[in-house]
Amino acid sequence: MSENFMHEDLVKTKITYPGLFKRLWPYARKEKVLLFSAIFAVAGGAIVARLIPALIGYAIDHGIKGKDYSVFTQVAYAYLILEIFRSCFSFANVYLFQLFGNRMLFHLREDLMGHVQRLPLQFFNKTPTGRIVTRLTNDVMSLGELFTDGVIAVFTHTVIIISVVIALAVISWKLTLVSLLLAPLFIWASFYLSNRIRDILREQKKKLSLINAFLAENLNGIKVVQLYNRVTRNRDTFSVLSNDYRETNMRSIRAYALMQPIMNLFNATTITAALYYGGLLSAEGSIAIGALVAFLMNIQDFIPPLREILEKYQQFQNSLTSAERIFTLMDEPEEYELENLHSPGMIRGELDIRNLNFQYEANLPMVLKGISLHIQPGESIALVGRTGSGKSTFISLLQRFYDAPEKSIFVDGIALERIPREEIRHHVGVVQQDNFIFRGTVRENIGLGDPRISEEQIQRACEKTGYMGLLTRTGRDLSSAVDERGANLSVGERQLIAFARILAFNPDILILDEATANIDSESEHIIQEATKEITKGRTSIIIAHRLSTIEQCDRIVVLNQGEIAEIGSHAELMKAEGLYYQFASVGVKTNVIDESANGPAGTEPGDPS
Ligand code: ATP
Ligand code: MG
Repeated sequence: MSENFMHEDLVKTKITYPGLFKRLWPYARKEKVLLFSAIFAVAGGAIVARLIPALIGYAIDHGIKGKDYSVFTQVAYAYLILEIFRSCFSFANVYLFQLFGNRMLFHLREDLMGHVQRLPLQFFNKTPTGRIVTRLTNDVMSLGELFTDGVIAVFTHTVIIISVVIALAVISWKLTLVSLLLAPLFIWASFYLSNRIRDILREQKKKLSLINAFLAENLNGIKVVQLYNRVTRNRDTFSVLSNDYRETNMRSIRAYALMQPIMNLFNATTITAALYYGGLLSAEGSIAIGALVAFLMNIQDFIPPLREILEKYQQFQNSLTSAERIFTLMDEPEEYELENLHSPGMIRGELDIRNLNFQYEANLPMVLKGISLHIQPGESIALVGRTGSGKSTFISLLQRFYDAPEKSIFVDGIALERIPREEIRHHVGVVQQDNFIFRGTVRENIGLGDPRISEEQIQRACEKTGYMGLLTRTGRDLSSAVDERGANLSVGERQLIAFARILAFNPDILILDEATANIDSESEHIIQEATKEITKGRTSIIIAHRLSTIEQCDRIVVLNQGEIAEIGSHAELMKAEGLYYQFASVGVKTNVIDESANGPAGTEPGDPS
């Protein structure tokens, strides 16, 4: 199990608010109509809300002071109508913004998912799955909160504050200035505190992500964890991570607690100033009593939106972190493709390897060294060698999971890098020891839901591999349910499904990587037959332990420390009494650790190191 969950969750893409809006705009633009309708609703709501204090002020000055009591009836009707309008605008505002946010998020998630699927395998080697899942779910969700909560709140409340200040200034700009004298100081203090909270939250999230990745990795590998007595060690690691997370949580709670008193103090100073100076102005006769009441009503509306903004500002900060992580993932380079690709359409299956050298990363040792090999269409080749000799690596290169140096692999005379990845994977079919089986039916697991694969092809594939017979004998059929990871199937059955899958897809080049390992002797015969069937008339490369499988091949290539040590038929190589002879005489014990293999083989899935 790798320890790479401990690595810092790197955020390469730093984002500022303008930057965030720039990156989100392409998604927002798709829902422009919704966006502008929502903005219209906000502006409407703000204007209506400011008319209410003005109305009350009017009632006081004209109704009470002027003793014209008919004013009250008019004011009552007007008030009712304004409130109805306000409710309508408020509903439209919330609803439209939510709809907008959700739609935009949907576009973003689609885009992100599409992108992740095109990332090179190297990325998945370095990144724990738990972390990618967090990006696609939690992070997109908190970015969603930014829209469904944050944007509505900050935008709406900013508009409210502006409308309040305008309304105040219209009543008396002098009184406004005096009342809001201390506002800059308080606003600065609260944003300062908010920034601190943001930093803590950012740290908090990073720590939670570490816990997630740790859990995902260890629960996935629970068998290994228990098998190798790592339970206590894992519990200790977990408790360290968890304690760390709690500490950070406490710090954020303390910072949050300071926020409330600051806001209360701010509220008190504005109202005190307005009452005091407003009283003086009123005594002077420079402000009508109704206008002063309207002023006081308006100023009461100043703090709550500010408080909301600050609260959402933290969420904004939170989502900014999520946005950074999302866009860091979005900025991971996709699998590299050349410009002028060549689609061969049909291939004969001729493979030409010319002086192939390969290393996984620049600082890692060479895994394949000077491999030259010519494989005729329809030929079957066995690849033999100790653990770590580079067999699986060679195959990954053929499928373009990793990029081999240019002009070192040719398929039907075309350089491999010129053939689109998707197409080459269509031509090269691989059956591995551990094939992916998912929850569904047998049929779905063979056809993979590909519309190009007909029911007949699936049926024929099952018959040829002998799986149909097995299904019928056990009272099942193609519609029988398969559990997650094929838990309700035997190892042999899972293998047969993989074979049938390959037959149905009918690739031009077939690769079996340890496909026949781990099979009990009962299944062996069936698998043996199935192997014969699927390699018939097809270029095939077979990596196997079983002598019986290898012997059937036209040629055997023996790899040693990434180099070709011997090539020949079984008989030739036995006669030569070289490496192959040694393997064969100990039962093709390819699983002996290659003493020469540099570096640990810890990158192999399921490796208990
Ligand atoms: P086995 O018989 O155990 O399957 P193999 O012959 O298939 O062995 P490879 O999996 O090709 O061996 O590995 C060859 C070498 O490349 C090993 O030293 C291994 O540690 C290294 N290696 C394999 N995969 C990676 C990877 N993703 N990143 C870095 N090094 C790797
Ligand atoms: Mg291998």
